[in-house]
Amino acid sequence: MRAFFHPDQSLHDPRQFMQVGRIREPKDLPSRTEALLGALAARGIEPEAPEDHGIEPALSVHTRPYLDFLQDAYERWRATPEAGPEVLSNLSPYWNGRPEWRHRPPCRSDSVIAQAGYYLGDLAVPIGSDTWKSALKSTHTATAAAEAVIGGAPAAFALCRPSGHHARTDRANGFCYLNNSAIAAERLASRYGKVAILDVDAHHGDGTQQIFYHRQDVLTVSIHVDPNVYYPFYTGYADERGISDGEGCNINIPLAPKTGDAAFLAAVDEAAAQVRAFGAEALVVALGYDSHREDPIGMLDVSTEAFREIGKRVQAISLPTVIVQEGGYQVSVIGDCLGQFLDGLLGD
Ligand SMILES: [Zn+2]
Repeated sequence: MRAFFHPDQSLHDPRQFMQVGRIREPKDLPSRTEALLGALAARGIEPEAPEDHGIEPALSVHTRPYLDFLQDAYERWRATPEAGPEVLSNLSPYWNGRPEWRHRPPCRSDSVIAQAGYYLGDLAVPIGSDTWKSALKSTHTATAAAEAVIGGAPAAFALCRPSGHHARTDRANGFCYLNNSAIAAERLASRYGKVAILDVDAHHGDGTQQIFYHRQDVLTVSIHVDPNVYYPFYTGYADERGISDGEGCNINIPLAPKTGDAAFLAAVDEAAAQVRAFGAEALVVALGYDSHREDPIGMLDVSTEAFREIGKRVQAISLPTVIVQEGGYQVSVIGDCLGQFLDGLLGD
């Protein structure tokens, strides 16, 4: 199987994030990529460096003012008197997130402090010196995997970091800046009439949902912990089903905390049935491991072995498939989770 990764994706090195009123140690550690690369190496898979596509892939799903902000926010922030080491918002402007409003007008203020509040949706998306570089390379990695599949590969793996599925058209959230899964889907949609995204990360793929909420050619299915008790809280409910042309093309499958393998895999079966019923011609799997029982910010009780079963189920869907790396923060288990998934997908 072809896999893609650029070493610059390990440069992003966040220092902090806010969790229940405390600034905590970061969870998206650069060492995550080493663990995942180890799983690929153990299976003889040598990742290829993606071609440089500039901002074109990011522009396919994000607004230009948002990308302009991400690109130079760090330098502008560091030039601001008394600014801290990372861009981190101290503002959260009210915005009525009506789903029919695809994205907002550009931020009125030219101030980087104001723009940080406007474009950073929470306190888990600090921007450091290399954040933009890593996030942009992740979009190239996702694009390269999609192009490999368009070129005839049955499956390709995009080792993206930072993750993407919480990133909206014009807002970073939850460790995510640029939506790699959405970018891969958009690229596949240039070749295939109907594309499905199956998101098995433990968090609702709220950014992906927002990006495609009005679209009938892209089905978004997300399996995640019930947002009533888990991030991202405001979306991910089963009654969010898409809007206008996209009505019925968004499916959320919330799970109770402590859900284990059997119920999680039943949810994957249900999601796979939805992908088939939609008539998808290509698939993006947004793959996270924070459903694992040892994940430091997880709430589910999924085993390492369950990822093999998820891989088998993806294989059984039998579509050209791009696998995009999302979350999973227990560095000691994520390599095994990816390995099990690949063994299930590729056959041992
Ligand atoms: Zn997650």
